Amino acid sequence: MSCALHTPHIAVIGAGIAGLSCATQLEALGMRVSVFDKSRGTGGRMSTRRGDGWQADHGAQYFTARDPLFLQELDRWQQAGVADLWQPDIAVLGDGAPHRNDGTTRRYVGVPRMSSPARWLADALTVNVSARVIELVNANHRWQLRFDDATDGRAALESTVFDAVVLAIPPAQAADLTRPHAAATTALCESLPMRPCWAVMLQFNARVALPFAAAFVNAGPLRWIARDSSKPGRPARETWTLHATTHWSEQHLEDSADDVIQALVAALTTLGGPAPESATAHRWRYSEPDAAPDARVFVWDAALKLGLCGDWLHGGRVEGAWLSGRAVARAILSAE
Ligand SMILES: Cc1cc2nc3c(=O)[nH]c(=O)nc-3n(C[C@H](O)[C@H](O)[C@H](O)COP(=O)(O)OP(=O)(O)OC[C@H]3O[C@@H](n4cnc5c(N)ncnc54)[C@H](O)[C@@H]3O)c2cc1C
Repeated sequence: MSCALHTPHIAVIGAGIAGLSCATQLEALGMRVSVFDKSRGTGGRMSTRRGDGWQADHGAQYFTARDPLFLQELDRWQQAGVADLWQPDIAVLGDGAPHRNDGTTRRYVGVPRMSSPARWLADALTVNVSARVIELVNANHRWQLRFDDATDGRAALESTVFDAVVLAIPPAQAADLTRPHAAATTALCESLPMRPCWAVMLQFNARVALPFAAAFVNAGPLRWIARDSSKPGRPARETWTLHATTHWSEQHLEDSADDVIQALVAALTTLGGPAPESATAHRWRYSEPDAAPDARVFVWDAALKLGLCGDWLHGGRVEGAWLSGRAVARAILSAE
């Protein structure tokens, strides 16, 4: 990829767990990395909403760890105090008599917030937030980035020239950037749509008298409810997160936040929950992959020096996203 004296400079677009895993690995392999994210913070869908005296993880609720490489990474996170075990009493509701979920799965969360592992990784990297990439410009087999300039609406072409670009963003957003350059990669992105999820975060003044800390719900608009304040390191204020099913979320994608809150709180009431003191809704337009892709894990186009990674290429979850980011970084090194 480069002459011996030149340290390759790689742009990673997306500071979710896949992009941060990729960037961490690239730096460990001796490359120079700049990470860009359109949001104000890092973590992507491993994220936490904060309010007055409360917080709630409104994207990923927990993660599991099975691959030895991810187990090692989890160990690092636990040593750093940014992840911990969360073993709530989980019920299964809506398909026959309520029963307990199996007690064997080990579930982990970021501490004190789901975004904490991402923040910890980002602290060791060069990360630019509020930086939405709207175009990749290929110049003599190297890349320049064009950003959306939110302040005056004009697009600015970044002068830095990168040796390679990795897109660690959902497929619809990746396709917008790859379309002028890579037809097959764009077709792959377009063949893997993501489905939405409405999330509602509720605050209560007293403990909710439900006989579980979380539940998989298999009937009605809800699919998951959890007492966020039961996770380790959280504020004491009684806070619950509700997730709607993908089907319901699609049907109500353009509903107002108030209408969504009303419908999902009504569904909680039918499960025995009380009315909340306050509520906030968040719409995840790209929540989870519609279908499991083939066993790609990542995409690396060595001719273009263009990579893609993310959960949508590897299982749709935190562990797969992290593994995907790591794998594309190692593919870039082996292309050296
Ligand atoms: C409601 C919900 C519940 C979930 N529950 C679980 C769960 O219980 N367990 C589990 O393991 N996983 C769960 N997940 C999935 C998990 O959150 C994801 O698999 C994982 O966080 C994906 O990481 P990623 O880095 O691939 O993508 P993301 O986290 O989506 O990161 C992509 C980043 O790219 C940025 N970006 C996008 N476009 C651009 C652009 N043009 N320019 C610059 N930046 C850009 C975004 O701002 C974002 O930060 C859940 C997700 C949701 C939404």
